[in-house]
Amino acid sequence: MKNTLLSIAGFDPSGGAGILLDIQVFRSFSFSGAGIPTALTIQNSRRVEDFYSPPPDFLLRQYDMLAKDMPLKGIKVGMVGTRRNLDVITRILKKNSGKPIVIDPVLKSSSGTWLIEKNAVAEYAEAFRGTASLITPNLEEASLLSGIPVKDTASQERATLMLFKRFQCPCLIKGGHFSGEKTDMLYDGTQLRTFSHAEAHKDVHGTGCFLSSSLVALLVRGHPLDEACSLAVQWTHEAILQALPAGSSRTVITVPLSFSPLLQPGKGTSAAKPDR
Ligand code: PLP
Repeated sequence: MKNTLLSIAGFDPSGGAGILLDIQVFRSFSFSGAGIPTALTIQNSRRVEDFYSPPPDFLLRQYDMLAKDMPLKGIKVGMVGTRRNLDVITRILKKNSGKPIVIDPVLKSSSGTWLIEKNAVAEYAEAFRGTASLITPNLEEASLLSGIPVKDTASQERATLMLFKRFQCPCLIKGGHFSGEKTDMLYDGTQLRTFSHAEAHKDVHGTGCFLSSSLVALLVRGHPLDEACSLAVQWTHEAILQALPAGSSRTVITVPLSFSPLLQPGKGTSAAKPDR
């Protein structure tokens, strides 16, 4: 039987982000993918125009159907959409405590559209407190969630520590929006670690989803957290370098077709090794 990873995230009909991308990434690590849509977005590669969220009861009932049927080994949470969805997603995460769970706190699209009801931001950290293995905010999300404007590595460090406390879980703040060399920063409760990569000079849609879904796959494979972060950051950078324009303007990330040793099954020590 295939081991399955679950994406609880938005549905981006352009395929460049959200559930459709997450499932491609899960497959690239030889896992099966399942997805529960928290929001149906209206968007193309350039911008998000709007979204509709299904009622929270839909999320819970769909989760129950999947959980009865499939071996769910890890969960990635992306776009949440509404404040009411926060409660049900938290309930689903609590039913899966002990498994790798990565939360990508998607708050706004790069075109500026909010991807969560604004009144849910204040409750976000409290709702997810203690439920995840890792959260992966970008600089703007880290600023909104911590109250610390993250502008440089000193403020990034303060925000990483603050979000560790607020979410009661390790925090990786992505530095992709810094100019020049990019530094992602991880705090796991004992150690700060940084992961750097060069500027790719590209505006790419879907990078946060790619990173967080790679992370959950690597954690389920049994990689320790810092190694999973290092590998996922490298893998995402490789995908960004190989990403091509889709639609009329923006570059869209996809799983690179060229061989990567990261994608070979059987790495790590977890019982939940991916199947071929
Ligand atoms: N749509 C969905 C479903 C997403 O999850 C995201 C980001 O995570 C976006 C759109 C926005 O992507 P971008 O900021 O790359 O435009």
